[in-house]
Amino acid sequence: MTQLEDDQARVEERIATACRQAGRAREEVRLLAVSKTRSDAEIQALHRLGQRLFGENYVQEFIAKHDALTGLEPPLEWHFIGALQTNKTRAVAERAAWVHGIDRLKIAERLSRQRPAGMAPLQVCLQIDLSGEPGKAGVPPREAGGLAAAVAPLPNLVLRGLMAIPAPAEDPTAQRRPFARLRELRDALNTRGLELDTLSMGMSDDLEAAILEGSTLVRVGTALFGPRRPKARQ
Ligand SMILES: *Cc1c(COP(=O)(O)O)cnc(C)c1O
Repeated sequence: MTQLEDDQARVEERIATACRQAGRAREEVRLLAVSKTRSDAEIQALHRLGQRLFGENYVQEFIAKHDALTGLEPPLEWHFIGALQTNKTRAVAERAAWVHGIDRLKIAERLSRQRPAGMAPLQVCLQIDLSGEPGKAGVPPREAGGLAAAVAPLPNLVLRGLMAIPAPAEDPTAQRRPFARLRELRDALNTRGLELDTLSMGMSDDLEAAILEGSTLVRVGTALFGPRRPKARQ
């Protein structure tokens, strides 16, 4: 077994165990492999092991990898999970299947307008800032309803759900609290006529807590690929 096979099996076992504990079917939780800083060869190796969903958070790096790996079969499903500036939306609209970090209407409008006609609608999540601290990415929970109501009707997007990156916490009870809040917010929005089926939450250190609170997509980097090398690719 290679290190990568070993890590993949370990992550899969963690997800399966958490699903069993939560009384949920394994199929309810998708695994997004966060491949930022990893080489094309590492991504290809994980793809050969059956992984299909990959996530990147820097636009230039995303473009390079997406374009280099186009043509692999079965195709990769690319998720853009980083912050997006308005001048970078087109490259993402032309390449990504999903964008997780929507926190401004302007970005969503541009993505919808720039989505090529021949492509399936872009699947998007609103990023919610649960910290309450200024300067953090995401919309505050109280503004989520207004943003969701504005994004949902955009023609070339499908608003799928909510995403959050809570501050790291050591103990499982503390880890679960923000994930529970995100789930409650999603449920509250759905009672107001939205149909959000996605909770993008949980990373290498807290995926179990996220799955116990209803995560439908965990974003995992380090636990799959090992520690990130700083500035491996700029
Ligand atoms: C890097 C990153 C992850 C993965 O983090 P790990 O701790 O390596 O699993 C998940 N989500 C986002 C938005 C990230 O930028």
